[in-house]
Amino acid sequence: MILYDIIVVGAGPAGLTSALYALRANKRVLILEAKAYGGQILNANKVENYPGIESISGFDFATNLYNQVKKLGAEIKFEMVVKIEEDKTVITKNEKYKAKSIILATGVKNRKLNIDREDEFVGKGLSYCATCDGNFYKGKVVAVNGGGNTALEDAIYLSDIASKVYLIHRREEFRGEDRYASVLKNKKNVEFILNCTVASLNGNDKLKSITVLDNLGNSREIVVDGLFIAIGQEPNNGMFSNVVDINDNGYIESDDGVHTKTEGIYVAGDARVKFLRQLTTAVGDGSIAATMAIREMK
Ligand code: NAP
Repeated sequence: MILYDIIVVGAGPAGLTSALYALRANKRVLILEAKAYGGQILNANKVENYPGIESISGFDFATNLYNQVKKLGAEIKFEMVVKIEEDKTVITKNEKYKAKSIILATGVKNRKLNIDREDEFVGKGLSYCATCDGNFYKGKVVAVNGGGNTALEDAIYLSDIASKVYLIHRREEFRGEDRYASVLKNKKNVEFILNCTVASLNGNDKLKSITVLDNLGNSREIVVDGLFIAIGQEPNNGMFSNVVDINDNGYIESDDGVHTKTEGIYVAGDARVKFLRQLTTAVGDGSIAATMAIREMK
């Protein structure tokens, strides 16, 4: 079995940045990613708060970083990690790998509504990524569910593509920034449906309508071609609980930001307990985790 210097779990901005730093220090690096490179930043239509880059799409940012890391010689395998042993053996669905150090950069995944037929309609009218799928709804009627910045940005983005956008949120006030809500209020093809939750998804082989319930229990059926769910994210670290401490919300505990309770296992990015989950803080974590792993490597 090859002994890697560092195995990075997750190919989002934190994981790719830690690989970048490790490769530039001449370390042998394997990146393991369950799905696609890029992580949550792929959902951002535009990134305009990354210092030094005025504006870039999340997809372009992720692709540039991925290509930068590949050029430096990173090995990347698209395999789901199912377990990590204390001796730094990483077990995926099909293989076992070994490293001197491991960096967990598993990020977060989209929160689901957890209602009937949600999985069935994915790709058949239901999406968690407006940037990825919005273009399929040119001139059609869509709904966005959520009240954070992602939902507000998605609704703005979709209002330029779709003929009509319903924005459904479970409260009166949005969690996202006022400046986005103000833009939406001035859009003629956007209708707010507040104090409501999505209760059911209707249709045969594809989504035809949704039923929303208000706080008083009144229901309303809304005919839509597409529903974009943007109700936040949650971590997925349960499989690492033998080597790291996990808090009640599922995030990895770390005393100083990158060290976990197991020597040689580090955490970076959205997966850890932290104050601010942003692109800037993810890449900061990635660079610190890799530098620390290199310094402490045995
Ligand atoms: P978020 O800020 O956590 O917002 C999630 C929204 O979904 C909230 O409005 C929440 O309602 C609602 N929600 C949660 N669970 C729900 C459920 N089961 N049913 C119905 N509604 C539910 O998530 P986000 O919008 O994805 O943003 C994540 C982070 O990224 C935030 O810090 C955000 O500011 C940041 N972000 C920044 C930018 C930017 O700076 N341009 C863009 C996108 C995201 P309540 O409000 O009632 O809890």
